[in-house]
Amino acid sequence: MTLAEVIDLLDRIALVDDRVVKADEIEQEAQVTMWAAVLRDVPLAFAGQAVGDHYASSAWPVMPKDIAERWRLQVRDRLGRSLGTFDPVDHPHIDPDDETGDAYVAALRAQRRAIAGGDAEPVGLRELMPAVGSQLGGGRSVELVPANEAFRAVKEEQYPRRARPAGPPELAVHCPRCGASPGRPCRLPHNDRAMTGTHPSRRDVWDAQQTEGADA
Ligand SMILES: [Zn+2]
Repeated sequence: MTLAEVIDLLDRIALVDDRVVKADEIEQEAQVTMWAAVLRDVPLAFAGQAVGDHYASSAWPVMPKDIAERWRLQVRDRLGRSLGTFDPVDHPHIDPDDETGDAYVAALRAQRRAIAGGDAEPVGLRELMPAVGSQLGGGRSVELVPANEAFRAVKEEQYPRRARPAGPPELAVHCPRCGASPGRPCRLPHNDRAMTGTHPSRRDVWDAQQTEGADA
């Protein structure tokens, strides 16, 4: 958040809790600077949501650490769901076998940054390894290998970009229930079949994002 966004956030907080924002002008300036330092990496929309969550469960005035802590947990959760790789289809110019190449490393770093910042959804194992996805539930270990031409061809065949049917809007987000990546159908855990509908929690994630967008 920028200084201006922190001021915006504090203005909003002042509407619901008059204990937070300092009345004295000099104190207020110091407060804004301090909040901006603590919340430097936190997007304004997330901070607004975190303030709401805080007051939903606490009678104490919100502190910047309350917001930073929620952001830290979310980043950890998002990175925890990521495999530390990227979808080669998104980076056709990068040789996926060249793991030490500058472009490969840069793409990985950008992907981690985007996931941490909420700009990208974690790449799920299922979509990267469609051919072996059904084996994962069976307790057998699968050796992860970097994608190559053959993999890309198989993937393109299984998920042709243009022929993908337009489904419900929540397909645009990652499914927290079965782990399907954006644009991919939800799958039943017991037989790995693609569902015609989606998991309700995926719909919730989509709904939440729409509300977030409307508030911001
Ligand atoms: Zn699902």
